Amino acid sequence: MIVVGEETCRQIIGRPEAFKAVEAVFAAMASGKAYNFPVIREAIGHADALYGFKSGFDRAGLVLGLKAGGYWPGNEKKGLTNHQSTVFLFDADTGKVKAMVGGNYLTAIRTAAASAISIKYLARKDAKVLGMIGAGFQSAFQVRAALEQRNFEKIIGWNLHPEMLPRLEQTAHEAGVPFEAVDLDRIGAEADVIITITSSFAPILTRAQVKPGTHLACMGTDTKGKQEVESELVAAATLFADEVAQSITIGECQHAMSQGLINQKSVTPIGDVINSEHPGRSTESEITLFDGTGVGLQDLAVASAVVDLAIAKNVAINIEF
Ligand code: NAD
Repeated sequence: MIVVGEETCRQIIGRPEAFKAVEAVFAAMASGKAYNFPVIREAIGHADALYGFKSGFDRAGLVLGLKAGGYWPGNEKKGLTNHQSTVFLFDADTGKVKAMVGGNYLTAIRTAAASAISIKYLARKDAKVLGMIGAGFQSAFQVRAALEQRNFEKIIGWNLHPEMLPRLEQTAHEAGVPFEAVDLDRIGAEADVIITITSSFAPILTRAQVKPGTHLACMGTDTKGKQEVESELVAAATLFADEVAQSITIGECQHAMSQGLINQKSVTPIGDVINSEHPGRSTESEITLFDGTGVGLQDLAVASAVVDLAIAKNVAINIEF
């Protein structure tokens, strides 16, 4: 069995490889060549943790496996990231375990790749202002990946906990882009692309706040009950998702769906746009919304890429198992 630890992942895989792997698997999902198995996610009644499994099979790339892990909100105080996960890959022909890969950094880059893919395909070409709602661990990865998709001239940000905003400021500074902390009205009025990446259980951004032509990447809602934007905003947007089934049950679209404001057919898999089966944005003035719920196949795709890279670079640990 090949073992690739967290630190090695950080050293050998970056944004371009993650983007390519996630884009390919979204395309395979939309054409029916790859599918995710039902997600298991439980509040374990200890340490406030959510724990579960995301798994799937990509027949095109012959990638089979699962990501086990979840969210421990108290970890930051212990010097650890709140998300903890590990990916296991299996040989699709035999079922024998093939690899164990650290999943924390991979989760961040595959999640950032998903919103970056949505910006590539759905944001207006002339987008200049990036709006960030959320300033947690994921947010810096989101900013760096988004900046590669358009010529953003400014980043504006809001966070429920303003003491976390220096993370966004620092990331913007490192990228050489000015940053300003603003209120939600200004995010909606000024940003051409808005990424939401919070643990919110109530709408933060409203329909009235968002200007025409905006692209939203809603990335934080990945569990029943979570919500980042008003249902009316979801209903007013042209909707895309990594996976429609997850979007309407555990993603940002769950609330508009249960209120009868949208139906399953309102949401298009982003893979259809990648495969040129759907035009994506069709007017400069429409609001597009990508619901990035996070699917197991994203994790497996980047884990598989990292195993190939580790073998090629001679840094894979091979253990008898
Ligand atoms: P984190 O704990 O580092 O940061 C949490 C963020 O949410 C901070 O900005 C915090 O201020 C904000 N927040 C917390 N409670 C809030 C509330 N009640 N209302 C509004 N904002 C609140 O977490 P992170 O690692 O940055 O992850 C952020 C979110 O993204 C989590 O909810 C996580 O489950 C989700 N996530 C989704 C995917 C995906 O693929 N869709 C992948 C990774 C993480």
